[in-house]
Parts: sequence; structure tokens; C-alpha cells
Amino acid sequence: MRISVDPDRCYGSGECAYRLPSVFTEVDGYGAVVPGREDAGDDPRVREAAERCPSQAITIG
Ligand code: SF4
Repeated sequence: MRISVDPDRCYGSGECAYRLPSVFTEVDGYGAVVPGREDAGDDPRVREAAERCPSQAITIG
């Protein structure tokens, strides 16, 4: 499943990149998916990171 970060919702807390740096990173201070890892949405750690995103900016689908 495909992961995306909504730049309009993300406020750059950095929690996703801290929690799962193999999938999430920061670009210009905002959360982003590591290039090439957009299809890692089946990983339960990705789901957990999405659930814990304070602005619910991460979607999987
Ligand atoms: S956890 Fe959410 S608000 Fe924080 S950087 Fe990641 S996407 Fe943005």
C-alpha cells in the first residue's frame, strides 16, 4: 500500500522520521517519504507512525 504525507497538514514535528527513519525523512523541515519507499505501507510500523502523527498527515492506501 502506498504512503503519502499531506504537506498541508504536516507541521514538521519530525516524529515520523524519528520513529521510522527507513521510511520517513524530513525535507525542508517537513515530513516526507524516503524516495523509493512509497510502497512500504504494509509495514505495521508505518501504520503505527501514521496513527501517532500528531496532525494525521500520513495516509496509507
Ligand atoms: S509525524 Fe506527522 S506532523 Fe510530524 S513530521 Fe511526520 S507527517 Fe509531519
